[in-house]
Amino acid sequence: MADLEQFRTQARAWLAANCPAAMRLPLEDDEDRCWGGRNFKFKSEGQRLWLERMAARGWTVPEWPREYGGGGLSREEAKILRAEMRKLGCRSPLDSFGIWMLGPALLKYGTPEQKRQYLPPIARGEIRWCQGYSEPNAGSDLASLATRAEDAGDHFLVNGQKVWTSYADKADWIFCLVRTDRAAPKHLGISFLLFDMRSPGVSTKPILLISGKSPFCETFFDNVRVPKGNIVGEINKGWEVAKYLLTHEREMISSIGVTAGRPLGQVAADSLGTDAGILADTCLRADIARFEIDAFAFRLALERTGDLAKAKQASPAISSMLKYYGAELNKRRHELLMSAGGAEALEWEGQRSRGGDAARSWLRSKANSIEGGTSEVQLNVIAKRILELPGA
Ligand SMILES: Cc1cc2nc3c(=O)[nH]c(=O)nc-3n(C[C@H](O)[C@H](O)[C@H](O)COP(=O)(O)OP(=O)(O)OC[C@H]3O[C@@H](n4cnc5c(N)ncnc54)[C@H](O)[C@@H]3O)c2cc1C
Repeated sequence: MADLEQFRTQARAWLAANCPAAMRLPLEDDEDRCWGGRNFKFKSEGQRLWLERMAARGWTVPEWPREYGGGGLSREEAKILRAEMRKLGCRSPLDSFGIWMLGPALLKYGTPEQKRQYLPPIARGEIRWCQGYSEPNAGSDLASLATRAEDAGDHFLVNGQKVWTSYADKADWIFCLVRTDRAAPKHLGISFLLFDMRSPGVSTKPILLISGKSPFCETFFDNVRVPKGNIVGEINKGWEVAKYLLTHEREMISSIGVTAGRPLGQVAADSLGTDAGILADTCLRADIARFEIDAFAFRLALERTGDLAKAKQASPAISSMLKYYGAELNKRRHELLMSAGGAEALEWEGQRSRGGDAARSWLRSKANSIEGGTSEVQLNVIAKRILELPGA
């Protein structure tokens, strides 16, 4: 405990000395997020400096081993670091599919060479990754995917199409599910392949969303040459890697349910006013209180699950429970932000610092119960693997 308190004091002092003032302000829009990668343009010098300093210390991935660019922290130390960052209001130095999804899969299934090649650039934010799972006829039924990788001697030739590939037009590399054995039962003929998005034959076409933004694409592969060494795990056993990665994706999505932002009560008080310090709208007040209690309970559930996982007592299916609830919670939060924001929340081109992005964010939140596997699919997993209900 004394060691942990010492770590807390040191971490707090380091953060206070090294986190630029502008990186302690709340995010105003998507451009405030740092995604890194070959083509990333830093919005400010502070943003660049913050990433550089955190990466040098291994704190973009505090729990990864030092040899792969991590901080080598224990779970308890990483928890303290996150808490101290929250207290100071520090922004995340780096948002990354490499950190949230691919990294954990590489740590478990990658060869030593693959770990050395891919993990440090992920930790430093040098390579931005996208996820090539979904296809026009393979979403919830992901194992029906048809993109194929054919053996062409020392390399594979990849042909097919992915869809809903988030940031495919901005990503440097893709982790992609491909069919390598068309004769095998569908779960057994899939491999997990990594390749550069600059490879000849890769093209992307952005898809416009209801929010007016275009964060994802259709992605096409036309005779893309991929070295055979770029397979993670064994050939035709990529489904195992894919499922493991999904548990991390789902846990990452679940955490949006408890993302810190301006407290709902404060947003409502600022735009609707108060009567002797109390919100006049009793229904809204009760809804906000109910939300805050549920969010607090969910935060504790996330903590408990982390402890269970550390003790190797958590079911892999627990990520479905967390993803389901975290997504529903975040959708509720955005509904409440719309109610609490009053007429200003409806502004489409409003001043973002005054909450003018609320309508777009509310529309974006609708996708939380689709991305990473729909809520219906999570409920099926919970019914089968956690509640062990009889199948239909
Ligand atoms: C914002 C966003 C970002 C995304 N980013 C990526 C990405 O980067 N990479 C990627 O590969 N994919 C991505 N996706 C795709 C996402 O994983 C799929 O949309 C999701 O898995 C659902 O597949 P689908 O869209 O084909 O819907 P479908 O599978 O066609 O489902 C349609 C409806 O049927 C329901 N349904 C289907 N099967 C069942 C069942 N067995 N029981 C009950 N109900 C069922 C579903 O719940 C849904 O309501 C993203 C999606 C969104 C919305």
